Amino acid sequence: MAERVAAVTDRSLSEYGAEVAGCVRCALAQTRTQVVFGSGSPTAELMFVGEAPGFHEDKQGVPFVGAAGKLLSKLLDGIGISREDVYVCNVIKCRPPGNRNPLPEEIEACEGHLFRQIELIQPALVATLGNFSTKLLSGKQAGITQVHGRVQDVVLGGRPVRLYPIFHPAAALYTPRMLQVLEEDFSRLPELLGHVPIEIAPAEPEPPAAGPVEQLGLF
Ligand code: URA
Repeated sequence: MAERVAAVTDRSLSEYGAEVAGCVRCALAQTRTQVVFGSGSPTAELMFVGEAPGFHEDKQGVPFVGAAGKLLSKLLDGIGISREDVYVCNVIKCRPPGNRNPLPEEIEACEGHLFRQIELIQPALVATLGNFSTKLLSGKQAGITQVHGRVQDVVLGGRPVRLYPIFHPAAALYTPRMLQVLEEDFSRLPELLGHVPIEIAPAEPEPPAAGPVEQLGLF
């Protein structure tokens, strides 16, 4: 039964991807090489959402294949999770010229694609990489510096989803001390996915009674 559900999801996600490949909802359709829809498992319990395809992604049609993507794969390796087991995509599916920030109208035109991907994949946890995905999916203006590492429960596509905002891996390429913050935030992913039991501190032993204690009447 689980396999059947996976097959149906796989087909509908790839069917949707084929549809989005011809998207002309915004002006980026004129400058892109191709739409970068997403990659990974169509039934992933963990999904990563970045910002926008860059030069290499636009050429290869796959998200996170450049320097930031290599760091993403390395961070995942570090916690024993492989890229094939997760799903990776972006807020906008086409490269902005010169890698500029996505424009509000581009995000608005493209957000339906991301919401549909979440609906089809049904991940238990969505890790938002950086400000753009964090703000879009949380529906709040609080930036990544303020909220990274803090789980937020939201409803997306009519389903409850746990958001886990983390810094964009590109941040660690420019600011090396950011790597430690990223590693710390990544280290919590297995626990958030329920892959390792959350440690519960043993109960403190009762302190010994100081002397004869008067038995209290219960009634
Ligand atoms: N590559 C992507 O696919 N997305 C980003 O946000 C950055 C690099």
